[in-house]
Amino acid sequence: MSLTKVKHIVLVLSGKGGVGKSSVTTQLALSLSLAGHSVGVLDVDLTGPSIPRMFGIEDAKVTQAPGVSASSFPSGVMPSSGVDQRRPPWFASFLTDVFWDETDYLLIDTPPGTSDEHISLAENLLQKARPGQLAGAVVVTTPQAVATADVRKELNFCQKTSIRVLGVVENMCGFVCPNCSECTNIFMSGGGEVMANDFGVRFLGRIPIDPQFLVLIETGKRPTYPAGTTVDGKDVSTPAGAS
Ligand code: ADP
Repeated sequence: MSLTKVKHIVLVLSGKGGVGKSSVTTQLALSLSLAGHSVGVLDVDLTGPSIPRMFGIEDAKVTQAPGVSASSFPSGVMPSSGVDQRRPPWFASFLTDVFWDETDYLLIDTPPGTSDEHISLAENLLQKARPGQLAGAVVVTTPQAVATADVRKELNFCQKTSIRVLGVVENMCGFVCPNCSECTNIFMSGGGEVMANDFGVRFLGRIPIDPQFLVLIETGKRPTYPAGTTVDGKDVSTPAGAS
């Protein structure tokens, strides 16, 4: 079965579209890869599959970006005509049709919200995964989204389906000035942490709006790190001349 060689499966969820779920998935994949893990990314967000664009692999169904294998439906292409996407049996085939070679972490970028698609995906995963293989879910939110019920619905969904919440990430929590690099909290921040505490789950951290991050994400380029940057004690700084 295609998931046999996958060690850990992590779902990336968000209550709303546009909060940075695919960006966080991409950065998580690149960071895990930089730390020496083999990583797969499965984009099942048919509302707007962004993973191929973010890895610069548009129009390919399954492709290797540097250090990361990514799989998605090519943009605009539906799984098969006539399939009812609200009750999608295609998740089942998509999970098993793509053969994942030795993979430490398979990140699944899910559609926003808690639709029938999520329930179908969760059911399929819980059926197909080995005990303990589905490590859990990372929930991405923005400070504004925290003020709405969407993220709480997402956390309730995890509780209902017994999917462990690995933690909450608050994205776009402030703005990094391109001139002086100072971060200004243009929105109220801290809501993600309060919500995580309310649900008794970990708050993983916050990411500001960073114009440089936007360029990296939109061009599908790997980030460059200044000399001396380390991840888990390993030097990951970008060699001179490379980008
Ligand atoms: P989602 O997957 O939740 O729909 P995306 O990851 O596609 O959201 O992000 C929406 C847009 O916001 C994209 O253009 C992305 O590049 C941008 N974006 C996301 N997070 C940040 C950030 N921290 N700084 C700057 N731009 C961001």
